Amino acid sequence: MFHWPKHKRLAISLTFDDARPSQVDTGLDLLNEYNVHATFYAVPNNLKKRLKQWQSLAEAGHEIGNHTVNHPCSINFPFCRENGLEDYTLDRIEQEITECNRLLHSLCGVTPETFAYPCGNTFIGRGINTQSYVPIVARHFLAGRGFPSEWHNVPEVCDLAQLNGRSFDQLPFEIILPWIEQTRQEKGWLILAGHDIGFDDQRQMVQVNTLRDLIEYALNPANGVWLDTVANVARHLKAVQKEINNEH
Ligand SMILES: [Zn+2]
Repeated sequence: MFHWPKHKRLAISLTFDDARPSQVDTGLDLLNEYNVHATFYAVPNNLKKRLKQWQSLAEAGHEIGNHTVNHPCSINFPFCRENGLEDYTLDRIEQEITECNRLLHSLCGVTPETFAYPCGNTFIGRGINTQSYVPIVARHFLAGRGFPSEWHNVPEVCDLAQLNGRSFDQLPFEIILPWIEQTRQEKGWLILAGHDIGFDDQRQMVQVNTLRDLIEYALNPANGVWLDTVANVARHLKAVQKEINNEH
């Protein structure tokens, strides 16, 4: 029977993609006010706009993960018309991932342990030549997070290289609360994935009030939440899954 450490009943990770400036301008003080840690999947070029803040974010114990150098997604996105995954090779995506690790280390002194698939896309090529790049992520990282997913992760059986990440952009806390309750029923791990952090009701913006409600809920001991970075929870689950496999 699976149990979370310290009598917790579920885990939640807060994740934010692309290293957008609002994450450090608005989000960092809020997270530090509550002394909770989140995971930031960074595109290195974006870090340069607020480099000092990103360095202090890393020093404060938040996780900086890999989100590739060029953020390649399906060619259908206007920003990917010139670098769509349909035109990638496995070698090219692997080189871009290792280059991102190198840049994140030189900019912020971190060694990324986890990865977020840009746009949640996990393929290269097209048609009968399509291939998955999940095995590359599995080789280089402790965990890889998808997006946008419809469910939480089940600790004993989830594939750490393809974790579900549920979008919480724009949503009020009332929408997220039932997801938390579902997750608790299965002793699961809910990974929330967002982009900007702010007060405006904009596309791809996590609402400050929602973030505050979520954190206060998670910090209430009665709710049994382990709120931590993707790397910290994934490291625990890797050990749990290893133990389960050894028993069989
Ligand atoms: Zn992204």
